Amino acid sequence: MNPIELPSPNHAPRTGGAPVDVLVLHYTELPLQESLDILCDGAREHRVSSHYVLAEDGTIYRLVPEDRVAWHAGRSHWRGREALNATSVGIEIVNLHGDRHDYPPQQITALIDLCRTILEGNPAIVPRNVVGHSDIAPRRKIDPGLRFPWHELARAGIGLWPRPDARPVEGDIQAALQRFGYVSPLEVAPADIVMAFQRRYRANRVDGVADAETRALLADLLDQVGGAP
Ligand SMILES: [Zn+2]
Repeated sequence: MNPIELPSPNHAPRTGGAPVDVLVLHYTELPLQESLDILCDGAREHRVSSHYVLAEDGTIYRLVPEDRVAWHAGRSHWRGREALNATSVGIEIVNLHGDRHDYPPQQITALIDLCRTILEGNPAIVPRNVVGHSDIAPRRKIDPGLRFPWHELARAGIGLWPRPDARPVEGDIQAALQRFGYVSPLEVAPADIVMAFQRRYRANRVDGVADAETRALLADLLDQVGGAP
């Protein structure tokens, strides 16, 4: 990894002493230059930033050092915690709409490299804490989108991927989703949380219905993390 340094003024100190333990993946929704402009603009009303921006050709830009807070996640929840900017690293991947446009192979190769470097430097980021923006902000966010190759990243050791043919989770699907990490159904409509899960793990049918396949995928993921919250 050999990033281009492009410092953004939009960052804050990491306070509270909690380790960085979440990696959040986004798509930009905008072309490269516009994305860099916005993420480096210190005069906007709602200032935003990310630690890294990854261009379609695989070029990596570093905007904020990892030991500072970048402003990419907004209102967010994971594993009972809120406001994840404080303890996360964020990557903005250039793609105009990740439900419609494939991520080019050279971009994914560079992303895998970048993620590996981040994970090596931040050992508290366990596989279940490699998340999409859609995982931590269901309904509000859909990035990195249905075309994002989560299975390919998991094969490279980045994040989890469910094995087929598990025995479905029985009973309260929302309790099980929450145990895995998703927001409480008191905060976001239950079907939207199921859809966030499906976006990531069953992109060919995102309907918010907790059917047997959805329950089986979740059961296997819970099995992989030992079932604990
Ligand atoms: Zn995002």
